[in-house]
Amino acid sequence: MRLQALGYVGVGARDLGDWRSYGTRHLGLQIVDKARNCVAFRMDDRAQRIIVEADPGHDPDRGVKLCGWEVADAAALDGIAGRIEQAGIRVERGARALAEERRVEDLIVLADPLGSRVEIFHGAEVATEPFRPGRNISGFRTGPLGVGHVVMTAERIDAAVSFYCDVLGFGLSDYYDRPFRARFLHVNGRHHSLAFIETGRTAVHHLMLELFSFDDVGQGLDLALAEEGRLAVTLGRHTGDCITSFYTHTPSGFMVEYGWGGKAIDPATWVAAERTIGPSLWGHERSWLPPEKRAETLALRLANAEAGERRPVQVMEGNYELVPGVCPWWDGLSGAR
Ligand code: FE
Repeated sequence: MRLQALGYVGVGARDLGDWRSYGTRHLGLQIVDKARNCVAFRMDDRAQRIIVEADPGHDPDRGVKLCGWEVADAAALDGIAGRIEQAGIRVERGARALAEERRVEDLIVLADPLGSRVEIFHGAEVATEPFRPGRNISGFRTGPLGVGHVVMTAERIDAAVSFYCDVLGFGLSDYYDRPFRARFLHVNGRHHSLAFIETGRTAVHHLMLELFSFDDVGQGLDLALAEEGRLAVTLGRHTGDCITSFYTHTPSGFMVEYGWGGKAIDPATWVAAERTIGPSLWGHERSWLPPEKRAETLALRLANAEAGERRPVQVMEGNYELVPGVCPWWDGLSGAR
């Protein structure tokens, strides 16, 4: 009855037109459904992964309105529903019409301690047509790892973290308390599918999408730089999942992190630890942080540079070529780097 992956996300927006161009031209998603008050996007073989709904009263702090978490089958869905009810949390069965809208066989609906809508489902529809990206990218890394990850900010994160870990069965990947408190949670081999950071206000912080090719990310960065005010966080590399990424502002108020080279973990043997070197090895200048916190993150990064904090690139079959070692001096350093 374990949750397997982040299967889909639902987003709210005042204007769907902005999302059509941002989703396709920046992110490379494919529009599959253009109803009057909704745009659905594909990012792989699934019928849909990201659903954007028009909402005149849209709250920019609640840009991601819902997360859809996947379980294996009907028995797993019943099992998790029972466990949530036992914890004293109200669970609603999703109506037939809602399941059809989400393009899944069945789902349940509940609210987490921060008031965010959580859907848990099984039986996602697979598309018959191949994925056709909105711009020329190699594709997204999804499959058993799901859509990517969602990060929430909150005044107090502890109740949400214990709900997801103790009731829904998420595992703690790692955590840190400087320059802000953060907790990273996993449900599969992706280092984190969900994270909470304590910043004093409850909001959706970002949604991460991972690309197959590093150049997809670099070309996305060029597109973002070409638009005034689009870039939210500069290119950088995270200390936890080792992803190299940048962030853009979405039309809904939250950010999308666009990354490459995320670390794979083995949830069966993974042991959570404190990350003492801050969130980024280098880069990631965060326009959303107040000046004193920006200074603190820069100091952490400069300390990382001073200490020679480095991580190997995390590659997948097909997106790298091994080059031969040809320089005795360089080869002699192997293992010492
Ligand atoms: Fe992230």
